[in-house]
Amino acid sequence: MVAELKYRRILLKLSGEALGAQGNSIDAETVRRIASEVKRVHNLGVEIAMVVGGGNMWRGAYAAATGIDRATADYVGMLATVMNSLVLQDAMEKLGMVTRVQTAIEMPPVAEPFIRRRAERHLEKGRVVILAAGSGNPFFTTDTAAALRAVELNAQVLLKATKVDGIYDDDPVHNPYAHKFEELSYMRALNMGLKVMDSTALSLCKDNKMPIIVFNMQQEGALEAIMRGAKCGTLVSE
Ligand code: UDP
Repeated sequence: MVAELKYRRILLKLSGEALGAQGNSIDAETVRRIASEVKRVHNLGVEIAMVVGGGNMWRGAYAAATGIDRATADYVGMLATVMNSLVLQDAMEKLGMVTRVQTAIEMPPVAEPFIRRRAERHLEKGRVVILAAGSGNPFFTTDTAAALRAVELNAQVLLKATKVDGIYDDDPVHNPYAHKFEELSYMRALNMGLKVMDSTALSLCKDNKMPIIVFNMQQEGALEAIMRGAKCGTLVSE
C-alpha cells in the first residue's frame, strides 16, 4: 500500500560537499548514510530523481581564478559530478534500490545519456535516476541543473539538501541570533542574494512555479518527514 504522501515525485539536489567528511572529498560512511535516507523515502513509493554537485572535488570558478580557461574548468567540474554520481549509485544499489545514472554529457560506457522521456519511464518504474554532469553546459551550476531537471521531469518539489536546516537572514554558525525563515517568496529570496542557491536556479523555479525546500539532510529522517508533510527547513515558493 502506498503511504499518505505530500509529494509523489521529487528532485533531490545534493552538493558534492555533502558526500565528504573529515577532510575526505568522498567519505564512504557519509555516502551510505545519504543512501539510506533516500531509501526510506523510496520505500514509501516516492519517485526520486537526484542531482549531485561536484564542489567536493572541483569548482569551475575557483579553478578559473588560478588561470585555467573557465569553460574548460567547468567541464572538469561536470566530470566531478559524474564521479560523485557513480559512487552514490553504488551505495544505493548496495541497499537494494534500482538506479540509473544519466549524464548530460554522453559517455555510454559509463552511464546512459540524459533522455527526458526515458528518465520519466525509470521514475515510473520505481528506479532512482541520478542525473550527472550538471546541465552539460559551462557557466552553470548543479543547482541550476537541478531546477531545470525538476521542471523537465515534472517533479512536485525541488529539495535542496544543505548542512543547515533552512534559510537564515545571517550565517547561523557564526551568529546565534540569526533568524530562520519558515517560508520565503522567490522574489525575496532573489533580492536577498542568497548563497544557498544561485539566482539562475531561483529564477527558473520562479518562472515555472517550482517550490523549493531547503533542509538539512544530516538530520536523520528529515527527508521522510518532508514527504509526509512535516514543515522542515525553509519553503521557497510564490
Ligand atoms: N558545472 C557546470 N555546468 C553545470 C553544472 C556544473 O559547468 O551545469 C561545473 C561548475 O564548474 C561547477 C562544478 O561543475 O563549479 C561543480 O558543480 P557545483 O559547483 O554546482 O557543485 P556543488 O556546489 O553543488 O557541489
